[in-house]
Amino acid sequence: MSTDLANTAAADLLDADPQRVADTNAVVRALALPDGARSLEVFNPATGDTIAAVPDADPGQALRAVAAAEAAGREWAARTPRQRADILRRWYDLINEHAEKISLLITSEMGKPLVESRAEVTYGGDFVRWYAEEAVRPGGNVRDVPTGGATLLTRRAPVGLSVLITPWNFPLAMATRKIAPALAAGCPVVIKPATLTPLTTFYVVDLAYRAGVPVDLVQVVTTGDASAFSEAVLTDARVRKVSFTGSTGVGKILLKLAADNVLRSSMELGGDAPLIVFDDADLERAVNGAYAAKMRNGGQSCIAANRIYVQDGIADAFVEGLVEKMAAARVGNGLADDVALGPLIDDRAVSSMQKLVDDAVAAGADVRSGGHAIAGPGSFFEPTVLDHVATTAEAARTEIFGPIAAIQRFRTEAEVVHRANSTEYGLAGYVFTENLDRALNVADALQTGLVGINQGVPSNAAAPFGGIKQSGLGREGSAEGLDEYQEIRFYNIARRTTGSDVVGSG
Ligand code: NAD
Repeated sequence: MSTDLANTAAADLLDADPQRVADTNAVVRALALPDGARSLEVFNPATGDTIAAVPDADPGQALRAVAAAEAAGREWAARTPRQRADILRRWYDLINEHAEKISLLITSEMGKPLVESRAEVTYGGDFVRWYAEEAVRPGGNVRDVPTGGATLLTRRAPVGLSVLITPWNFPLAMATRKIAPALAAGCPVVIKPATLTPLTTFYVVDLAYRAGVPVDLVQVVTTGDASAFSEAVLTDARVRKVSFTGSTGVGKILLKLAADNVLRSSMELGGDAPLIVFDDADLERAVNGAYAAKMRNGGQSCIAANRIYVQDGIADAFVEGLVEKMAAARVGNGLADDVALGPLIDDRAVSSMQKLVDDAVAAGADVRSGGHAIAGPGSFFEPTVLDHVATTAEAARTEIFGPIAAIQRFRTEAEVVHRANSTEYGLAGYVFTENLDRALNVADALQTGLVGINQGVPSNAAAPFGGIKQSGLGREGSAEGLDEYQEIRFYNIARRTTGSDVVGSG
Protein backbone atom coordinates (compact mmCIF):
# COMPACT_ATOMS: atom_id res chain seq x y z
CA MET A 1 0.00 0.00 0.00
CA SER A 2 2.66 2.48 0.93
CA THR A 3 4.42 1.73 -2.35
CA ASP A 4 1.31 2.64 -4.34
CA LEU A 5 1.01 5.82 -2.36
CA ALA A 6 4.66 6.64 -2.97
CA ASN A 7 4.11 6.16 -6.69
CA THR A 8 0.99 8.28 -6.66
CA ALA A 9 2.72 10.98 -4.70
CA ALA A 10 5.76 11.11 -6.89
CA ALA A 11 3.81 10.94 -10.13
CA ASP A 12 1.84 13.93 -9.00
CA LEU A 13 4.94 15.85 -8.02
CA LEU A 14 6.65 15.07 -11.30
CA ASP A 15 3.88 16.93 -13.09
CA ALA A 16 4.74 20.13 -11.27
CA ASP A 17 5.50 23.05 -13.54
CA PRO A 18 9.08 24.16 -12.89
CA GLN A 19 8.42 27.52 -14.52
CA ARG A 20 6.40 28.67 -11.59
CA VAL A 21 9.11 28.50 -9.00
CA ALA A 22 8.02 31.69 -7.32
CA ASP A 23 4.73 30.11 -6.39
CA THR A 24 5.48 27.52 -3.76
CA ASN A 25 2.10 25.92 -4.13
CA ALA A 26 2.82 25.20 -7.76
CA VAL A 27 5.80 23.07 -6.85
CA VAL A 28 3.92 20.68 -4.63
CA ARG A 29 0.29 19.94 -5.22
CA ALA A 30 -1.97 17.93 -2.97
CA LEU A 31 -1.25 14.23 -3.29
CA ALA A 32 -4.05 12.07 -4.59
CA LEU A 33 -5.05 9.96 -1.63
CA PRO A 34 -7.52 7.08 -1.71
CA ASP A 35 -11.03 8.04 -0.63
CA GLY A 36 -11.42 8.02 3.13
CA ALA A 37 -7.66 7.66 3.80
CA ARG A 38 -6.40 9.39 6.91
CA SER A 39 -3.98 12.09 5.94
CA LEU A 40 -1.42 14.54 7.30
CA GLU A 41 -0.92 18.03 5.99
CA VAL A 42 2.50 19.30 4.94
CA PHE A 43 3.22 23.02 5.34
CA ASN A 44 5.57 25.46 3.71
CA PRO A 45 7.30 27.09 6.71
CA ALA A 46 7.95 30.27 4.70
CA THR A 47 4.26 30.96 4.17
CA GLY A 48 2.37 28.74 6.58
CA ASP A 49 0.39 27.41 3.60
CA THR A 50 -0.63 23.79 3.35
CA ILE A 51 1.16 22.43 0.27
CA ALA A 52 0.26 18.75 0.29
CA ALA A 53 -1.32 15.93 2.23
CA VAL A 54 0.31 12.54 2.76
CA PRO A 55 -1.08 9.27 4.15
CA ASP A 56 -1.33 8.84 7.89
CA ALA A 57 -0.53 5.13 8.13
CA ASP A 58 -1.63 3.07 11.13
CA PRO A 59 0.52 0.27 12.61
CA GLY A 60 -1.34 -2.37 10.57
CA GLN A 61 -0.41 -0.60 7.35
CA ALA A 62 3.18 -0.23 8.54
CA LEU A 63 3.35 -3.98 9.14
CA ARG A 64 2.01 -4.63 5.64
CA ALA A 65 4.89 -2.52 4.35
CA VAL A 66 7.26 -4.69 6.41
CA ALA A 67 5.80 -7.86 4.86
CA ALA A 68 6.06 -6.54 1.29
CA ALA A 69 9.64 -5.30 1.75
CA GLU A 70 10.72 -8.55 3.34
CA ALA A 71 9.31 -10.60 0.47
CA ALA A 72 11.06 -8.40 -2.10
CA GLY A 73 14.31 -8.54 -0.13
CA ARG A 74 15.03 -12.19 -0.85
CA GLU A 75 15.29 -11.67 -4.58
CA TRP A 76 17.28 -8.45 -4.13
CA ALA A 77 19.83 -10.12 -1.86
CA ALA A 78 20.32 -12.84 -4.49
CA ARG A 79 21.25 -10.34 -7.20
CA THR A 80 24.93 -9.86 -7.93
CA PRO A 81 26.70 -6.84 -6.46
CA ARG A 82 27.21 -5.52 -10.00
CA GLN A 83 23.47 -5.65 -10.72
CA ARG A 84 22.71 -3.73 -7.53
CA ALA A 85 25.50 -1.23 -8.28
CA ASP A 86 24.21 -0.54 -11.79
CA ILE A 87 20.73 0.28 -10.45
CA LEU A 88 22.16 2.58 -7.79
CA ARG A 89 24.22 4.34 -10.43
CA ARG A 90 21.07 4.88 -12.55
CA TRP A 91 19.33 6.24 -9.46
CA TYR A 92 22.19 8.71 -8.97
CA ASP A 93 21.89 9.83 -12.59
CA LEU A 94 18.13 10.37 -12.19
CA ILE A 95 18.68 12.41 -9.03
CA ASN A 96 21.01 14.66 -11.01
CA GLU A 97 18.56 14.91 -13.90
CA HIS A 98 15.83 15.99 -11.48
CA ALA A 99 18.08 18.10 -9.26
CA GLU A 100 16.17 21.31 -9.77
CA LYS A 101 12.78 19.81 -8.96
CA ILE A 102 14.15 18.07 -5.88
CA SER A 103 15.68 21.37 -4.75
CA LEU A 104 12.34 23.16 -5.14
CA LEU A 105 10.67 20.43 -3.17
CA ILE A 106 13.21 20.58 -0.32
CA THR A 107 12.86 24.36 -0.08
CA SER A 108 9.07 24.17 -0.25
CA GLU A 109 8.64 21.74 2.60
CA MET A 110 11.69 22.55 4.74
CA GLY A 111 12.40 26.20 3.99
CA LYS A 112 16.15 26.35 3.38
CA PRO A 113 17.31 28.73 0.61
CA LEU A 114 17.28 27.19 -2.86
CA VAL A 115 21.06 27.46 -3.13
CA GLU A 116 21.36 25.24 -0.03
CA SER A 117 18.77 22.79 -1.34
CA ARG A 118 20.85 22.44 -4.50
CA ALA A 119 23.90 21.76 -2.33
CA GLU A 120 21.89 19.14 -0.46
CA VAL A 121 20.98 17.43 -3.73
CA THR A 122 24.69 17.25 -4.60
CA TYR A 123 25.57 15.99 -1.12
CA GLY A 124 22.63 13.57 -0.88
CA GLY A 125 23.16 12.28 -4.42
CA ASP A 126 26.81 11.63 -3.61
CA PHE A 127 25.81 8.90 -1.14
CA VAL A 128 23.99 7.07 -3.93
CA ARG A 129 27.03 7.33 -6.24
CA TRP A 130 29.37 6.32 -3.41
CA TYR A 131 27.39 3.19 -2.56
CA ALA A 132 26.99 2.32 -6.26
CA GLU A 133 30.79 2.17 -6.15
CA GLU A 134 31.02 0.37 -2.79
CA ALA A 135 28.40 -2.23 -3.70
CA VAL A 136 30.96 -4.18 -5.73
CA ARG A 137 33.49 -4.17 -2.90
CA PRO A 138 31.66 -6.14 -0.27
CA GLY A 139 34.82 -7.13 1.60
CA GLY A 140 35.43 -10.45 3.30
CA ASN A 141 38.92 -11.85 3.70
CA VAL A 142 41.03 -14.91 4.36
CA ARG A 143 43.39 -15.39 7.30
CA ASP A 144 45.13 -18.22 9.04
CA VAL A 145 44.55 -19.32 12.62
CA PRO A 146 47.71 -18.17 14.46
CA THR A 147 48.47 -21.64 15.84
CA GLY A 148 48.11 -23.22 12.39
CA GLY A 149 45.93 -26.08 11.21
CA ALA A 150 42.99 -23.99 10.02
CA THR A 151 42.09 -21.16 7.68
CA LEU A 152 39.45 -18.56 8.45
CA LEU A 153 37.27 -17.32 5.64
CA THR A 154 35.24 -14.23 6.57
CA ARG A 155 32.14 -13.41 4.55
CA ARG A 156 29.67 -10.54 4.60
CA ALA A 157 25.92 -10.96 4.37
CA PRO A 158 23.09 -8.40 4.26
CA VAL A 159 21.83 -7.67 7.77
CA GLY A 160 18.22 -7.94 6.55
CA LEU A 161 15.11 -5.80 6.70
CA SER A 162 16.14 -2.31 7.77
CA VAL A 163 13.85 0.32 9.28
CA LEU A 164 15.10 3.82 8.56
CA ILE A 165 13.76 6.84 10.45
CA THR A 166 14.84 10.29 9.27
CA PRO A 167 14.54 13.90 10.53
CA TRP A 168 13.23 16.98 8.74
CA ASN A 169 16.40 19.06 8.47
CA PHE A 170 18.00 17.32 5.44
CA PRO A 171 15.02 15.61 3.80
CA LEU A 172 17.05 14.22 0.89
CA ALA A 173 20.49 13.53 2.32
CA MET A 174 19.30 11.78 5.47
CA ALA A 175 17.23 9.42 3.29
CA THR A 176 19.91 8.62 0.68
CA ARG A 177 22.62 8.26 3.35
CA LYS A 178 20.61 5.32 4.72
CA ILE A 179 18.78 3.84 1.71
CA ALA A 180 21.82 3.67 -0.59
CA PRO A 181 24.09 1.59 1.71
CA ALA A 182 21.14 -0.63 2.68
CA LEU A 183 20.40 -1.41 -0.97
CA ALA A 184 24.09 -1.81 -1.81
CA ALA A 185 24.42 -4.39 0.95
CA GLY A 186 21.32 -6.26 -0.27
CA CYS A 187 18.78 -5.19 2.38
CA PRO A 188 15.09 -4.31 1.94
CA VAL A 189 13.97 -1.05 3.51
CA VAL A 190 11.02 0.54 5.29
CA ILE A 191 11.64 4.27 5.61
CA LYS A 192 9.66 6.65 7.80
CA PRO A 193 10.50 10.25 6.94
CA ALA A 194 9.72 13.10 9.32
CA THR A 195 6.07 14.09 9.20
CA LEU A 196 7.10 17.71 8.55
CA THR A 197 9.07 16.91 5.35
CA PRO A 198 7.92 13.65 3.73
CA LEU A 199 7.59 14.86 0.11
CA THR A 200 11.26 14.74 -0.85
CA THR A 201 11.45 11.11 0.29
CA PHE A 202 8.44 10.13 -1.84
CA TYR A 203 9.97 11.87 -4.82
CA VAL A 204 13.45 10.40 -4.53
CA VAL A 205 12.15 6.89 -3.82
CA ASP A 206 10.06 7.15 -6.97
CA LEU A 207 13.26 7.95 -8.85
CA ALA A 208 14.79 4.80 -7.32
CA TYR A 209 11.88 2.76 -8.74
CA ARG A 210 12.44 4.34 -12.15
CA ALA A 211 16.10 3.35 -11.87
CA GLY A 212 15.11 -0.29 -11.41
CA VAL A 213 14.75 -0.73 -7.65
CA PRO A 214 11.87 -3.21 -7.22
CA VAL A 215 8.80 -1.29 -6.07
CA ASP A 216 8.18 -3.39 -2.98
CA LEU A 217 11.81 -3.30 -1.85
CA VAL A 218 11.73 0.27 -0.55
CA GLN A 219 8.57 1.14 1.36
CA VAL A 220 7.80 4.71 2.42
CA VAL A 221 5.52 4.96 5.45
CA THR A 222 4.27 8.31 6.72
CA THR A 223 2.43 8.49 10.00
CA GLY A 224 1.34 10.99 12.59
CA ASP A 225 1.87 8.44 15.36
CA ALA A 226 5.59 7.72 15.34
CA SER A 227 5.50 5.83 18.66
CA ALA A 228 2.83 3.40 17.46
CA PHE A 229 4.86 2.90 14.28
CA SER A 230 8.12 2.08 16.05
CA GLU A 231 6.44 -0.08 18.70
CA ALA A 232 4.80 -2.21 15.99
CA VAL A 233 7.65 -2.36 13.53
CA LEU A 234 10.76 -2.61 15.70
CA THR A 235 9.32 -5.49 17.70
CA ASP A 236 8.41 -7.45 14.56
CA ALA A 237 10.67 -10.48 14.13
CA ARG A 238 11.13 -9.84 10.41
CA VAL A 239 12.96 -6.59 11.11
CA ARG A 240 16.72 -6.93 11.75
CA LYS A 241 18.01 -3.38 11.82
CA VAL A 242 17.06 0.15 12.81
CA SER A 243 18.89 3.23 11.61
CA PHE A 244 17.73 6.49 13.12
CA THR A 245 18.71 10.13 12.71
CA GLY A 246 17.14 12.59 15.10
CA SER A 247 17.20 13.73 18.69
CA THR A 248 19.02 11.87 21.45
CA GLY A 249 15.78 11.55 23.44
CA VAL A 250 13.98 9.68 20.65
CA GLY A 251 17.14 7.65 19.94
CA LYS A 252 17.09 6.33 23.50
CA ILE A 253 13.44 5.27 23.14
CA LEU A 254 14.27 3.42 19.93
CA LEU A 255 17.31 1.72 21.47
CA LYS A 256 15.09 0.39 24.26
CA LEU A 257 12.63 -0.97 21.71
CA ALA A 258 15.48 -2.41 19.66
CA ALA A 259 16.74 -4.26 22.71
CA ASP A 260 13.68 -6.55 22.76
CA ASN A 261 14.45 -7.76 19.25
CA VAL A 262 18.27 -7.37 19.62
CA LEU A 263 18.30 -5.22 16.48
CA ARG A 264 21.47 -3.94 14.87
CA SER A 265 21.18 -0.24 15.66
CA SER A 266 22.70 2.86 14.10
CA MET A 267 21.97 6.13 15.83
CA GLU A 268 22.84 9.59 14.48
CA LEU A 269 21.72 11.78 17.37
CA GLY A 270 21.91 15.31 18.70
CA GLY A 271 25.00 17.51 18.73
CA ASP A 272 26.51 20.33 20.80
CA ALA A 273 29.49 21.22 18.63
CA PRO A 274 32.23 23.43 20.07
CA LEU A 275 33.91 25.73 17.55
CA ILE A 276 37.27 27.00 18.81
CA VAL A 277 39.09 30.01 17.39
CA PHE A 278 42.65 30.49 18.61
CA ASP A 279 44.56 33.79 18.55
CA ASP A 280 46.78 32.43 15.76
CA ALA A 281 43.84 31.65 13.45
CA ASP A 282 43.49 33.27 10.05
CA LEU A 283 40.74 35.75 10.89
CA GLU A 284 38.94 35.63 7.54
CA ARG A 285 38.99 31.84 7.46
CA ALA A 286 37.70 31.70 11.02
CA VAL A 287 34.85 34.15 10.39
CA ASN A 288 33.81 32.44 7.16
CA GLY A 289 34.13 28.98 8.70
CA ALA A 290 32.15 29.93 11.79
CA TYR A 291 29.47 31.55 9.65
CA ALA A 292 29.16 28.40 7.52
CA ALA A 293 29.18 26.08 10.53
CA LYS A 294 26.52 28.18 12.23
CA MET A 295 24.27 29.28 9.40
CA ARG A 296 24.17 26.28 7.08
CA ASN A 297 20.58 25.07 7.12
CA GLY A 298 19.64 28.09 9.25
CA GLY A 299 21.55 26.57 12.15
CA GLN A 300 19.25 23.54 12.05
CA SER A 301 22.01 21.01 11.62
CA CYS A 302 23.25 18.40 14.07
CA ILE A 303 26.84 19.57 13.42
CA ALA A 304 26.02 23.29 13.68
CA ALA A 305 28.55 25.31 15.69
CA ASN A 306 26.70 25.41 19.01
CA ARG A 307 29.24 26.86 21.42
CA ILE A 308 31.69 29.28 19.81
CA TYR A 309 34.84 29.71 21.93
CA VAL A 310 37.14 32.57 20.93
CA GLN A 311 40.55 33.28 22.47
CA ASP A 312 40.88 36.70 24.09
CA GLY A 313 43.46 38.14 21.66
CA ILE A 314 41.34 37.66 18.54
CA ALA A 315 37.88 37.84 20.09
CA ASP A 316 36.94 41.47 19.34
CA ALA A 317 38.02 41.28 15.69
CA PHE A 318 36.31 37.90 15.24
CA VAL A 319 33.02 39.09 16.75
CA GLU A 320 33.08 42.20 14.58
CA GLY A 321 33.66 40.11 11.44
CA LEU A 322 30.92 37.64 12.31
CA VAL A 323 28.43 40.40 13.19
CA GLU A 324 29.07 42.03 9.82
CA LYS A 325 28.37 38.79 7.95
CA MET A 326 25.32 37.84 10.02
CA ALA A 327 23.78 41.30 9.78
CA ALA A 328 24.19 41.22 5.98
CA ALA A 329 22.40 37.86 5.63
CA ARG A 330 19.10 38.43 3.83
CA VAL A 331 16.16 36.67 5.47
CA GLY A 332 13.14 35.50 3.48
CA ASN A 333 11.35 32.81 1.52
CA GLY A 334 14.02 30.37 0.38
CA LEU A 335 12.59 30.37 -3.14
CA ALA A 336 13.46 34.05 -3.62
CA ASP A 337 16.83 35.14 -4.99
CA ASP A 338 19.72 36.10 -2.70
CA VAL A 339 18.12 34.77 0.47
CA ALA A 340 20.74 33.57 2.94
CA LEU A 341 18.41 32.51 5.74
CA GLY A 342 15.02 30.91 5.20
CA PRO A 343 12.35 30.24 7.80
CA LEU A 344 12.84 27.94 10.78
CA ILE A 345 10.91 24.72 10.56
CA ASP A 346 7.90 25.97 12.58
CA ASP A 347 6.67 28.57 15.06
CA ARG A 348 7.75 26.45 18.02
CA ALA A 349 11.35 26.74 16.84
CA VAL A 350 10.96 30.54 16.62
CA SER A 351 9.70 30.86 20.18
CA SER A 352 12.45 28.59 21.45
CA MET A 353 15.03 30.95 19.79
CA GLN A 354 13.44 33.94 21.51
CA LYS A 355 13.59 32.17 24.89
CA LEU A 356 17.28 31.33 24.38
CA VAL A 357 18.12 34.95 23.55
CA ASP A 358 16.11 36.38 26.46
CA ASP A 359 17.64 33.89 28.88
CA ALA A 360 21.21 34.59 27.65
CA VAL A 361 20.66 38.35 27.97
CA ALA A 362 19.32 37.92 31.50
CA ALA A 363 22.55 36.03 32.30
CA GLY A 364 24.69 38.90 30.95
CA ALA A 365 25.11 38.31 27.18
CA ASP A 366 25.40 41.22 24.72
CA VAL A 367 23.16 41.06 21.64
CA ARG A 368 25.52 42.16 18.86
CA SER A 369 23.04 41.63 16.02
CA GLY A 370 19.50 40.34 15.56
CA GLY A 371 17.83 38.83 18.59
CA HIS A 372 14.19 38.93 17.53
CA ALA A 373 11.50 36.90 15.85
CA ILE A 374 10.25 38.36 12.57
CA ALA A 375 6.50 38.82 12.20
CA GLY A 376 4.75 36.22 10.00
CA PRO A 377 3.48 34.81 7.81
CA GLY A 378 6.11 32.14 8.08
CA SER A 379 8.45 31.16 10.91
CA PHE A 380 11.38 33.55 10.81
CA PHE A 381 14.07 34.60 13.28
CA GLU A 382 16.83 37.17 12.78
CA PRO A 383 20.42 36.01 12.34
CA THR A 384 21.73 36.65 15.82
CA VAL A 385 25.12 37.10 17.47
CA LEU A 386 25.37 36.90 21.25
CA ASP A 387 28.72 37.79 22.80
CA HIS A 388 29.90 37.03 26.35
CA VAL A 389 27.38 34.21 26.80
CA ALA A 390 27.58 32.90 30.37
CA THR A 391 28.34 29.21 30.87
CA THR A 392 25.14 29.00 32.89
CA ALA A 393 22.91 30.35 30.08
CA GLU A 394 20.63 27.87 28.30
CA ALA A 395 22.27 28.80 24.97
CA ALA A 396 25.58 27.46 26.31
CA ARG A 397 24.06 24.21 27.56
CA THR A 398 21.53 23.09 24.97
CA GLU A 399 21.40 22.27 21.25
CA ILE A 400 20.34 25.68 19.82
CA PHE A 401 19.18 24.43 16.39
CA GLY A 402 18.69 27.89 14.92
CA PRO A 403 20.53 31.01 13.68
CA ILE A 404 22.03 32.14 16.99
CA ALA A 405 25.82 32.37 17.27
CA ALA A 406 26.53 32.05 21.00
CA ILE A 407 30.05 33.27 21.73
CA GLN A 408 32.11 32.61 24.83
CA ARG A 409 35.69 33.71 25.38
CA PHE A 410 38.68 31.74 26.70
CA ARG A 411 42.34 32.16 27.70
CA THR A 412 44.24 28.88 27.34
CA GLU A 413 44.22 25.75 25.21
CA ALA A 414 43.82 23.45 28.21
CA GLU A 415 40.90 25.50 29.52
CA VAL A 416 39.02 25.51 26.20
CA VAL A 417 39.50 21.77 25.62
CA HIS A 418 38.08 21.09 29.06
CA ARG A 419 35.09 23.38 28.44
CA ALA A 420 34.49 21.99 24.94
CA ASN A 421 34.34 18.44 26.29
CA SER A 422 32.02 19.30 29.18
CA THR A 423 28.92 17.92 27.45
CA GLU A 424 27.28 14.54 27.08
CA TYR A 425 27.29 15.02 23.30
CA GLY A 426 30.16 14.23 20.95
CA LEU A 427 29.27 14.69 17.30
CA ALA A 428 31.30 17.50 15.72
CA GLY A 429 33.99 19.98 16.76
CA TYR A 430 35.82 22.74 14.90
CA VAL A 431 39.31 24.16 15.38
CA PHE A 432 40.70 27.31 13.77
CA THR A 433 44.45 27.87 14.09
CA GLU A 434 47.38 28.24 11.69
CA ASN A 435 49.55 26.06 13.94
CA LEU A 436 49.45 22.47 12.66
CA ASP A 437 50.60 20.89 15.93
CA ARG A 438 47.94 22.76 17.85
CA ALA A 439 45.25 21.89 15.29
CA LEU A 440 46.00 18.19 15.53
CA ASN A 441 46.56 18.13 19.29
CA VAL A 442 43.25 19.88 19.96
CA ALA A 443 41.43 17.72 17.38
CA ASP A 444 42.81 14.64 19.16
CA ALA A 445 41.68 15.98 22.53
CA LEU A 446 38.13 16.79 21.45
CA GLN A 447 35.66 14.04 22.32
CA THR A 448 33.78 14.12 19.03
CA GLY A 449 33.30 11.82 16.05
CA LEU A 450 34.45 14.44 13.56
CA VAL A 451 36.48 17.63 13.56
CA GLY A 452 36.54 20.45 11.00
CA ILE A 453 40.01 22.00 10.93
CA ASN A 454 40.02 25.53 9.51
CA GLN A 455 36.72 24.84 7.81
CA GLY A 456 33.03 24.85 8.69
CA VAL A 457 31.52 22.18 6.43
CA PRO A 458 33.29 18.88 7.13
CA SER A 459 30.67 16.38 5.85
CA ASN A 460 31.36 14.32 2.74
CA ALA A 461 30.01 11.05 1.36
CA ALA A 462 33.54 9.64 1.59
CA ALA A 463 33.79 10.39 5.33
CA PRO A 464 32.60 8.13 8.19
CA PHE A 465 30.05 10.50 9.75
CA GLY A 466 28.86 9.81 13.28
CA GLY A 467 29.09 10.70 16.92
CA ILE A 468 30.51 9.39 20.18
CA LYS A 469 29.09 9.70 23.72
CA GLN A 470 25.34 10.44 23.53
CA SER A 471 25.59 11.64 19.91
CA GLY A 472 25.26 8.18 18.54
CA LEU A 473 26.34 4.73 17.49
CA GLY A 474 27.75 3.70 14.12
CA ARG A 475 28.85 5.62 11.06
CA GLU A 476 27.21 6.75 7.83
CA GLY A 477 28.99 7.42 4.55
CA SER A 478 32.33 5.91 3.45
CA ALA A 479 33.12 2.19 3.45
CA GLU A 480 32.21 2.04 7.15
CA GLY A 481 28.65 3.07 6.28
CA LEU A 482 28.22 -0.17 4.36
CA ASP A 483 29.38 -2.21 7.39
CA GLU A 484 26.27 -1.01 9.22
CA TYR A 485 24.10 -3.07 6.84
CA GLN A 486 26.25 -6.19 6.81
CA GLU A 487 26.78 -9.11 9.14
CA ILE A 488 30.31 -10.48 9.29
CA ARG A 489 30.46 -14.29 9.41
CA PHE A 490 33.38 -16.69 9.32
CA TYR A 491 34.03 -20.26 8.28
CA ASN A 492 36.81 -22.07 10.11
CA ILE A 493 38.25 -24.55 7.62
CA ALA A 494 40.34 -27.33 9.23
CA ARG A 495 43.55 -28.02 7.34
CA ARG A 496 45.68 -31.15 7.28
CA THR A 497 48.91 -29.45 6.40
CA THR A 498 52.04 -31.24 5.26
CA GLY A 499 54.50 -29.17 7.19
CA SER A 500 54.67 -25.39 6.99
CA ASP A 501 51.45 -23.37 6.62
CA VAL A 502 53.31 -20.79 4.58
CA VAL A 503 51.76 -20.47 1.15
CA GLY A 504 54.20 -21.46 -1.60
CA SER A 505 56.62 -23.16 0.80
CA GLY A 506 56.03 -26.69 -0.54
P1 NAD B 1 13.17 13.99 16.29
O1 NAD B 1 13.96 13.05 17.14
O2 NAD B 1 12.07 14.72 16.91
O3 NAD B 1 12.56 13.23 15.04
C1 NAD B 1 13.35 12.48 14.13
C2 NAD B 1 12.47 11.42 13.49
O4 NAD B 1 12.03 10.52 14.50
C3 NAD B 1 11.20 11.94 12.82
O5 NAD B 1 10.94 11.14 11.68
C4 NAD B 1 10.14 11.69 13.88
O6 NAD B 1 8.85 11.55 13.33
C5 NAD B 1 10.63 10.37 14.43
N1 NAD B 1 10.16 10.00 15.76
C6 NAD B 1 9.87 10.80 16.83
N2 NAD B 1 9.47 10.03 17.87
C7 NAD B 1 9.53 8.74 17.46
C8 NAD B 1 9.23 7.48 18.06
N3 NAD B 1 8.82 7.39 19.33
N4 NAD B 1 9.39 6.36 17.32
C9 NAD B 1 9.81 6.43 16.04
N5 NAD B 1 10.10 7.58 15.41
C10 NAD B 1 9.97 8.72 16.12
O7 NAD B 1 14.26 14.96 15.66
P2 NAD B 1 14.00 16.16 14.65
O8 NAD B 1 13.43 17.30 15.41
O9 NAD B 1 13.30 15.70 13.42
O10 NAD B 1 15.52 16.49 14.21
C11 NAD B 1 16.34 17.27 15.01
C12 NAD B 1 17.31 16.42 15.81
O11 NAD B 1 17.97 15.51 14.95
C13 NAD B 1 18.41 17.25 16.42
O12 NAD B 1 18.66 16.81 17.74
C14 NAD B 1 19.61 16.96 15.53
O13 NAD B 1 20.85 17.14 16.16
C15 NAD B 1 19.37 15.55 15.17
N6 NAD B 1 20.08 15.22 13.93
C16 NAD B 1 21.16 14.41 14.01
C17 NAD B 1 21.88 14.11 12.87
C18 NAD B 1 23.09 13.23 12.94
O14 NAD B 1 23.51 12.78 11.89
N7 NAD B 1 23.65 12.97 14.10
C19 NAD B 1 21.48 14.62 11.64
C20 NAD B 1 20.36 15.44 11.57
C21 NAD B 1 19.66 15.73 12.75
